[in-house]
Amino acid sequence: MLYSSTRGLISSASFEDVALSGLAPDGGLFIPNSLPDLSHLYDTKEDLSYTDLALEIFLPFADGIVPKQDLKTLIEKSYSSFRIPNVVQLTTAGKHQLLDLFYGPTFAFKDVALQFLGNLFEYLLAKNNKQLTLIGATSGDTGSAAIYGVRGKKNIHLFVLHPLNRVTKIQELQMTSVLDDNITNIAIEGSFDNAQAIVKEIFSDTQLRKTYNLGAINSINWVRLMAQVPYYFYAAREYRKKVGTDVEAFCVPTGNFGNIYAGYMAKQMGLPIKKLILATNANDILHRTIQTGKYTVKESTPTPAPSMDIQIASNFERYLYDIADKDTKLVASHMEDLKTGEFALTQKERDKLQSDFCSYATSTEEIYQYISSYNEQGLNVDPHTATGLCAADQFDFQNVICLATAHPSKFGDAFFKATGKKIELPSVLQELEQKQTSCIHAAADINAIKDIILTILRENKDLDQ
Ligand SMILES: *Cc1c(COP(=O)(O)O)cnc(C)c1O
Repeated sequence: MLYSSTRGLISSASFEDVALSGLAPDGGLFIPNSLPDLSHLYDTKEDLSYTDLALEIFLPFADGIVPKQDLKTLIEKSYSSFRIPNVVQLTTAGKHQLLDLFYGPTFAFKDVALQFLGNLFEYLLAKNNKQLTLIGATSGDTGSAAIYGVRGKKNIHLFVLHPLNRVTKIQELQMTSVLDDNITNIAIEGSFDNAQAIVKEIFSDTQLRKTYNLGAINSINWVRLMAQVPYYFYAAREYRKKVGTDVEAFCVPTGNFGNIYAGYMAKQMGLPIKKLILATNANDILHRTIQTGKYTVKESTPTPAPSMDIQIASNFERYLYDIADKDTKLVASHMEDLKTGEFALTQKERDKLQSDFCSYATSTEEIYQYISSYNEQGLNVDPHTATGLCAADQFDFQNVICLATAHPSKFGDAFFKATGKKIELPSVLQELEQKQTSCIHAAADINAIKDIILTILRENKDLDQ
């Protein structure tokens, strides 16, 4: 399989380039040149475990780069860190089924992709005798999932920038209690936006990018999206077994359009889904785009579901590339227009968008209401999952799977606000309080951060020589 950039200057990148470089050199996002038809994976009544499905789904994409036996080993290693054997599971939530995706080491769905990506990085780097430097900004969940994905991995150093005192205590401890030499936590005196702007600026330094082989760990890395496809197939098969009929729609709490784009790929690969329900919170840019055909950036609003407080959904560019029939000029012109804060879809693009997705923007009040009413029925859900459950109720589908993206105890404050009750932390998270931590504090200043990063990277280089 070869990969192209959504901006049109690259058309034959390898799986390895895509995995290790993140963004394409022309500033676009990588996308495979075709998608395999894997409908037999749904049609067959044969028993398939989660890892069986993952192997069949990843194989065509990694073809020629990772041999089947190695891929199988990587997958098995990645998912042995989960607390249940089949990685994810369905639970009943009233008339819907919930797909619980939070059984990985950090109790959030991002583990599903990042546990695999960390192992894949290590494998590809060893094969090519290369080193990789990862730099990411986080508002909470991505950082800890990335850290647990690459901690202790050879030839990788990860720097994670988080806004000082603006992530939850648990999220902070999950990151800073990891003491492996290849992990550096940096707390910025500023906001998440400051942290992200600094990371973007570091990436725009082409010299630095080359010298230290900078790579991406956020969902602009296509491998993360690929690694989220298996649970759509797995869940649809489990649904058929449990409910006795085919699932019609998946409802996905959406921020950066990564998770739902994986669902869209599953559909393109032959999973018979009628619709994807896109749930946003008050940060509703994607909901407005589906309604009006205009992608208009507004100020972001803090909500109880912070991992969805996103105004620019990077992965939407991949979908634009598909609906523009690979017309990279049209994609590039949308992205150029976006610099002014808005672009408008063509009528054709808009029709396609509305045929694939329906959407709802769940208000903050509704998020609390849903947490509380599910709690009364004996089921605890986190604020992101509640956003999705509320969205699913706006439509007439009888057979819906709602994605549960985080463990409710990770958002104890929101839970308390909604129910007046304290939610107990799982013991692994409770134990974090006693652990030693390590974190560098720094001003939100590009030069200060660059200095910190370069000093550590140079020390590592000296140690190697
Ligand atoms: C990241 C995240 C989301 C949003 O996923 P996207 O792939 O960015 O759309 C939703 N819920 C939780 C808990 C998350 O961590």
